[in-house]
Amino acid sequence: MKIRVDEEKCTGHARCYGLAPELFSVDDYGLSSVVGDGTVPSELEDKARLAIANCPEYAIEEITD
Ligand code: SF4
Repeated sequence: MKIRVDEEKCTGHARCYGLAPELFSVDDYGLSSVVGDGTVPSELEDKARLAIANCPEYAIEEITD
């Protein structure tokens, strides 16, 4: 599983970071980006899905390719 944050949609508040600090980092404004290249270790996939479901801006997406 791999995820990304759409920086055009993210408005901050860092809810994703609160739910899954292993997967996201936030800047001084609370805007989020994925850690590393967005690859989610299998043991953190539930947390990734929780973050996706709880982003109020629908800014986190799973990359499927
Ligand atoms: S929860 Fe969504 S809008 Fe909020 S910081 Fe994370 S990606 Fe951005």
